[in-house]
Amino acid sequence: MPLRIPVEIVDGACWDQPVSTKHIAILGSTGSIGTSCLDVVRALSERVQVHGLTAHTRWKELSQQCQEFGAHQIALGDMGTSVAIHNGCFGTADVSYGQEGIERVATHPDVDFVVSGIVGAAGLRGTWAALQAGKSIGLANKETLVVAGSIIAEQLRKTDASLIPIDSEHSAIFQALQCGRRSDVRRVILTASGGPFRGWSRSQLAEVTPERALAHPTWDMGPKITIDSATMMNKALEVIEARWLFDLDVEQIDVVIHPQSIVHSMVEFVDGSVMAQMSPPDMRLPIQYALTYPERHPGISPRMDFAQPHTLEFIPPDREAFPALDLGFEVAQRGGTCGAVLNAANEVAVSRFLNGDLRFVDIPRVCQEVLNNHDYDPHPSLDELFRQDAWARQETKTWRS
Ligand code: MG
Repeated sequence: MPLRIPVEIVDGACWDQPVSTKHIAILGSTGSIGTSCLDVVRALSERVQVHGLTAHTRWKELSQQCQEFGAHQIALGDMGTSVAIHNGCFGTADVSYGQEGIERVATHPDVDFVVSGIVGAAGLRGTWAALQAGKSIGLANKETLVVAGSIIAEQLRKTDASLIPIDSEHSAIFQALQCGRRSDVRRVILTASGGPFRGWSRSQLAEVTPERALAHPTWDMGPKITIDSATMMNKALEVIEARWLFDLDVEQIDVVIHPQSIVHSMVEFVDGSVMAQMSPPDMRLPIQYALTYPERHPGISPRMDFAQPHTLEFIPPDREAFPALDLGFEVAQRGGTCGAVLNAANEVAVSRFLNGDLRFVDIPRVCQEVLNNHDYDPHPSLDELFRQDAWARQETKTWRS
């Protein structure tokens, strides 16, 4: 069974009940997902109200958001910010700090939908807290499932919590799944832009600089995700995410390069029909869909203009030039502690690359080695995952080619 992705959609039925105003908390509201989410809230102010907001350090921006959206609860992840903040810049909102503060916002009884937009493994604890509190969650933080997929799946079976994907590919799959029965799905096909180095050879990739890698053609994203997109590690993490989110066998997941980023992913059914979700690339659409699901509303996302010619290409990925992709399939297959280790190793490797301390092609190399050397546990606890995460970070920090 998929992760309490409501059975109704999977079986093709539809819900007619009106949806009342949603009170949401946004974890990571000053980041790329957070600000896109607030754009959507602005447009849907009748249906969606902000209850809580969290940021890491950007308290001035958070203060503006708090005022504009009338948030009741604020958390700053970085304890150090408490010294800098001016008295009263959050009005009458309840302000708290650190991981505990974020969890406080994520679990507040008045919140019925949590947008998990904190990038990296740092986003896991807040999402976990929301899950345990039985919240509905719009999941943009892919690390939650990459790191702790098996545990999250178990937790979802035990509580009233539900997960709706915000990652554009998984939102596309979620939408396409509504066209047929879950048991009739043959496979899902994740599309990938291919990043700025699509078509490059391994020897060309060895020369890639951080500046060059940060110039991504399609999506406006933070530096970490931009590098992940360039190495195709982003797609690897999405393969793992899809495995857990939709309870798929690894053999049921495919990746295809689609440079136009119009088809956000596809589902193939047993009769050979392929359902694709298309729209101009804009994160606000999957965010809005998660917020209004199962309804659809006119929104602010751009629409396809078929008065203009479009060419859509689908190209098999070059797995030799982009070995990160195979790591994704390996980790999706093995599960257990592998996701936590791959994710942690990659986070450190990316930051070392950005500091000029690792070559671009070393990113998947170090990840593979750290993965091979780790103490694999097929059924880890959450604490064990955090231990493995810390171990993998240390290993990757000191790795020399
Ligand atoms: Mg994505």
